[in-house]
Amino acid sequence: MSADPNLAADFINGDISFWVRAEGRPPQRQPLPGPIDADVAIVGAGMTGLWSAYYLKQARPELDIVVIEKEFAGFGASGRNGGWMSAKSPGQFRRYAKAGGVDAAVALEREMFASVREAVDVAKQEGFGDHVVRDGLIHVATSEAQLSRLRAETAKLEDHGWKRDEDFVVLSPSELHQRVHVNRAKGAYWSPHCARINPAQFTFGLAETVERMGVRIYEGTTATAVAPRAVHTDRGRVSAKFVVQALEGYTCTLEGQRRRLLPMNSSMVVTERLTDEQFASVAWHGAELMGDVAHNFAYIQRTADNRIALGGRGVPYNFGSSFDRRGRTADAAVRQLGARLVELFPGLRDVKLEQSWSGVLGVPRDWCAGVEFDPASGVASAGGYVGHGVTGTNLAGRTVRDLILGESTELTRLPWVGHRARNWEFEPLRWLAARALYAVYRFADREEYRTGAPRTHVSAKMANLISGRCPAGGAPPRGCRAPIPPAPSGRAMRGHRTAARRASLLGYTFAKLLRYRFGVKPL
Ligand SMILES: Cc1cc2nc3c(=O)[nH]c(=O)nc-3n(C[C@H](O)[C@H](O)[C@H](O)COP(=O)(O)OP(=O)(O)OC[C@H]3O[C@@H](n4cnc5c(N)ncnc54)[C@H](O)[C@@H]3O)c2cc1C
Repeated sequence: MSADPNLAADFINGDISFWVRAEGRPPQRQPLPGPIDADVAIVGAGMTGLWSAYYLKQARPELDIVVIEKEFAGFGASGRNGGWMSAKSPGQFRRYAKAGGVDAAVALEREMFASVREAVDVAKQEGFGDHVVRDGLIHVATSEAQLSRLRAETAKLEDHGWKRDEDFVVLSPSELHQRVHVNRAKGAYWSPHCARINPAQFTFGLAETVERMGVRIYEGTTATAVAPRAVHTDRGRVSAKFVVQALEGYTCTLEGQRRRLLPMNSSMVVTERLTDEQFASVAWHGAELMGDVAHNFAYIQRTADNRIALGGRGVPYNFGSSFDRRGRTADAAVRQLGARLVELFPGLRDVKLEQSWSGVLGVPRDWCAGVEFDPASGVASAGGYVGHGVTGTNLAGRTVRDLILGESTELTRLPWVGHRARNWEFEPLRWLAARALYAVYRFADREEYRTGAPRTHVSAKMANLISGRCPAGGAPPRGCRAPIPPAPSGRAMRGHRTAARRASLLGYTFAKLLRYRFGVKPL
């Protein structure tokens, strides 16, 4: 029983997710019986693995496809997420444009629109999409700095070819108020390219669908290494012509891949069902998903049974890439998310939280997802969606299909194909950097609220520069249509200037932090 007045008496911390608990786990599937042969062996039964299985089997029903899953289908991020099936890119436009050209980066964004439609259509056709509602996505600004980022973001979207009033609609505070009551809202925009899903219902349904098509899913089987034309597991070797690695935040547990993707925690809380009075204070009648534009941003859904589920970074990274597999969430993170809920919806100050949980995202060093295939070894992999994988996994699954079948298509020409970021730094650098960066982001959010300044706090700009993350509305906001120049001969000089800029920003931010936290005025 919980003594915290904000938590329900039978509050649950962890236990995979509210979605999995409410939906009830399907019976555990059989483990791998021993060494076997297959045409395709897929490692990981999350949305990436399952979509890959779905599209391969659909295209070539004769293929013998097996999925190897350590726990159960939907155990990972796919059964824990916020249910935003959105068209948000699983990477940074700027970097994809640099790699493949602006048109290719635009094409990737358009494919994300199409992927939302595709994933919803498949779910409906295959009979597991009754709960899916395509009511779009609202981004709301609750400070002047967030508002300026929101404006920069919509300008950027227009540069990328998004049509105003078609692909997105700018909402004034009063227009937003007609859809949902958000405290201190300064402005918002809505985009139709998003569907609300119940992640467990969706992933369980997709797993049953691929099984019905003839794919074998072996649960309770741990892959220890992925090798050319083989997967090594704790229950024997799977020899296969093709292997698909789909482990996202768990990639670091595989032999030789510890620093490839950072397993970043994302944490969620869900309230009990809202009373009529609480619901009236929020007045959120549609099924739009919602997020703010803070550096430590919150993602929110009103569930089909009238609760509010809200997520955010919490404690983003644990030393040595460790994480609680069943999703237990630090008390401080639960408090932080509960406080954010009440800041956004003060009418919910008495609502109790019923559950909290966490899951891991896969974060590449450059924050850009990739789909890879090496025909020589037969190994494909997809992931690194950084929190935007619900739709990205569908696109990845269709792309993996084309790559394995040796077809050259629009999808195989997208700029995330073949994209691989460099490895993350060694510990303790990874841990120090991740902790410091998120402390800076929290600090920047507080400062932006405190000062009311209409611009992004310099400390957050510095953190973005160091982390390689390009936030909503981040630089360069405009001009993406202009050709992105290849590396000039003065590259070394530019490198020095960038380093000097980073160092001075770092110094400035440390000074600010010291002054803010300890009242120290460094010389
Ligand atoms: C709390 C949270 C909220 C999120 N919210 C959103 C959102 O609202 N919208 C959005 O677009 N994205 C969101 N995401 C991200 C999104 O859920 C992921 O990008 C997506 O689900 C990734 O799917 P996946 O199949 O690649 O990985 P996962 O779903 O993590 O699947 C990997 C699977 O591999 C299994 N596995 C691990 N190790 C092994 C091994 N050694 N051998 C065999 N199997 C193994 C795991 O058990 C797991 O089932 C969120 C993520 C989290 C954690």
